[in-house]
Amino acid sequence: MKITIIGAGIGGLATAIALRKFRPDIELEIFEGSPELKAVGAGLGLAANAVAALDQIGIKEQVLSVSNVLDSFRILDAKGRLISQTNNMAINRNLQVISNFSVHRADLQRVLLAQIPDVPVHLNKRVWDFNQEGDTVHIRFADGAKTETDFVIAADGIHSIFREKLLPESTIRFAGYTCWRGVADLSNFKKLTNLNPKIASESWGLGQRFGIVPLTDGRIYWFACINAPKAKDVRFAAFGQKELAEAFGGFHAPVGELIQMTAPEKILWNDILDFAPVQQFAFGRVLLLGDAAHATTPNMGQGACQAIEDAAILGKILAKNLGPQAAFQAFEEKRLKRTAFIVKRSWQLGKLAQVGNPLLAGLRNFLLRQVPERMNEQQVKALLNVEF
Ligand SMILES: Cc1cc2nc3c(=O)[nH]c(=O)nc-3n(C[C@H](O)[C@H](O)[C@H](O)COP(=O)(O)OP(=O)(O)OC[C@H]3O[C@@H](n4cnc5c(N)ncnc54)[C@H](O)[C@@H]3O)c2cc1C
Repeated sequence: MKITIIGAGIGGLATAIALRKFRPDIELEIFEGSPELKAVGAGLGLAANAVAALDQIGIKEQVLSVSNVLDSFRILDAKGRLISQTNNMAINRNLQVISNFSVHRADLQRVLLAQIPDVPVHLNKRVWDFNQEGDTVHIRFADGAKTETDFVIAADGIHSIFREKLLPESTIRFAGYTCWRGVADLSNFKKLTNLNPKIASESWGLGQRFGIVPLTDGRIYWFACINAPKAKDVRFAAFGQKELAEAFGGFHAPVGELIQMTAPEKILWNDILDFAPVQQFAFGRVLLLGDAAHATTPNMGQGACQAIEDAAILGKILAKNLGPQAAFQAFEEKRLKRTAFIVKRSWQLGKLAQVGNPLLAGLRNFLLRQVPERMNEQQVKALLNVEF
C-alpha cells in the first residue's frame, strides 16, 4: 500500500515522520514543487500543543535542541509600555509543559528531513492535476510526468491545488494587513537596548505592529505588519528596508535597529491570508492536511502547530490498523472543529491587534491591561486540550 504526500513543508514532513513511526508497513513518497528545499523563511513561534504533538511523533528532543524556549511573551504599545504579559515560566511550572518556543524555519525543516532518510523526496515535481479512479489516484505534474498511487495526503499549503479542485467554493481571504519578516543576526545582545534573548514581544501601534522573537545563536526573528487596503498593494510592493524602517520610525527601540540590521535581500514580504473554515478534509482516497486544509492567519502562532498536530493525530489513527480511507474520515471528524476554532480566533485576534483608530486602540489597551495574568494560563490549557 502506498501513500503519496504532496508538499515537503512542515505538514508534509511531519506527516511522513508520523507515518514512519506508526505504520512502517506503508510505502511513502513525497513530491515537492520547489526545485530545492531552500533554507528560506524566517522564524516560527510554537506553543505547548506543538511540543505535545512532536512528542507523539517521537521528535520533541530533536526539535527542542535547535529551539529557544521563551520565558515570557509581552504585548507592548508602540512606545514600549507593557499592555499584557504571559509568564511562560510560571505556566510551564504549573502545567508541566513548555508553553512557548521559537525556531528558525530552516532549522526545523532540517531536523524534520533528517528523521526520514528512507522516504524519497522528489523535488521540482509540482502537481498540476489529479483524479481518483477506482482504487487509484492519478497525478499529473507540471513537467508533463505522471504517477499513480493508492492514497494522497495533500500538504501543499494555503494555495493547495487539491483544495482548489475539491472545494472550489473555498476562496482565499485577505486579512487586511500585510507583513514583512526577517532575521537579524546579532553577535552581542548588549548592543541593543530593550532586548532579552528569552522574551518575545509584539508591539501594537495604530494599524501596525512589530513582533520580536529571539531564536538560538543570537538571531532575532522579527515581523512587521501594516494595514493595507488590498492584497498586493502597489505602495507596499515598492517598500524596501528604508521605507519599512521609516514606517516604524515612531516605535520604541530596538525596532528600527532590527530592521536596519537585516540584509535587505533577506526581508520577506507576504500579505496575510487564510480561508474560512471548510466542512470537509477527507475526499475518498485524498486527504487535505496542514494549511491546505485549514490555513490560518499567524496571529496565534498556530498554523505550523496545527499542521504538526494533524500529522500526529493521523499517525495515531492509522496506528489502529485502520485502512487509510477510514483513517482519513476519522481524521476529519477529529480535526474539523478544533482547526475551525483556531482559524476564527486567530482572525479576530488579528483585527484586535491591527486596530487603526486611536480611540479604539486606547480602549483596547486599557481593557487588556485589566485582564488577570491567570487568563493566559487558561489559554495554554485550551490549546493543550487536544486528544491524540
Ligand atoms: C507571516 C507568517 C508567519 C507565520 N508564523 C507562524 C508561527 O509563528 N507559528 C506557527 O505555528 N505558524 C506560523 N505560520 C503558519 C505556518 O507557516 C504554516 O501554517 C505552515 O508552514 C503550514 O505548513 P504546511 O506544510 O501545511 O504548508 P507549507 O509550509 O506552505 O508547505 C507546502 C509545501 O507544498 C509545496 N507545494 C505547493 N504546491 C504544490 C504543488 N502543486 N505540487 C507540489 N508541491 C507543492 C510548497 O512548495 C511547500 O513546500 C506563519 C505563516 C505566515 C505567512
